[in-house]
Amino acid sequence: MTLPRTILGLLALTATALGAGAASAYVLVTTDDGTPVTWSLGCVEVWTNPAVVEELTPEEVLAALELGLDAWNAVGCSWIEGAARGFTCFDHVGLASWPGPQNEVLSRDEPESWRHADRVVALTSLSYDPRDGEISDADIELNGEDYRFAIDGSLNAYDLQQTLTHELGHVFGLNHTPVASATMYALSYPGEISKRTLAPDDITGLCANHPLSTAPDSGACEPAEPVPAAEPWCPKRPDDDCAGGGGGAPWGLALALLALWRARRRLRWG
Ligand SMILES: [Zn+2]
Repeated sequence: MTLPRTILGLLALTATALGAGAASAYVLVTTDDGTPVTWSLGCVEVWTNPAVVEELTPEEVLAALELGLDAWNAVGCSWIEGAARGFTCFDHVGLASWPGPQNEVLSRDEPESWRHADRVVALTSLSYDPRDGEISDADIELNGEDYRFAIDGSLNAYDLQQTLTHELGHVFGLNHTPVASATMYALSYPGEISKRTLAPDDITGLCANHPLSTAPDSGACEPAEPVPAAEPWCPKRPDDDCAGGGGGAPWGLALALLALWRARRRLRWG
């Protein structure tokens, strides 16, 4: 059984208030006893759902995901590595009992499809073992219902690459930092692209929870051609829907990227 626990804006705002001015101020996601939540897999595979982000092709969304992963993969003092595996029609947020862990990027474009606060631009849900902090699943939702995303630096839309780079930081166990220039800062605004590039604070954080000294034996990501949007990987759920359970019960934790107050507005076509 998954025990959902949602922490939205309050978490980010509290961290900002407490940590302002600190030189190295990254914040890690931790279990209740303070253990950082981390991956033990040598390769974190991320899929994207081909449901289109308005005005962008599925391939453009995949390219933005790959660029976001590249930013984190390039950090030399951390072993963490992620790979974009292509398209899936799977759209489950949280750890599914079947087919098991699948990390996805999902766009919530349809009316009433965004189930979180409308000030939230994007949100990552982490599932981890509360006993040792091992992450088993991470899913990124984009609020396409209330916001537009772009890849060309448009001043009327949130930059998809920057947004995904931020959310991938959550996937890798980073929480919001009080450092306003860092990718992991909780607030963003339309047209902002400077945080496509990691700040020293982001890098220090990643190397704190996934240092080279803890690299797993399972190795890095194997190169693979991404599964195309025209033929997405679509697991068929078995008739027996009662499978599941076993092992530990993961906690779910949601981490949100917020729109700046002054940028809050509904940007809808038509
Ligand atoms: Zn965030």
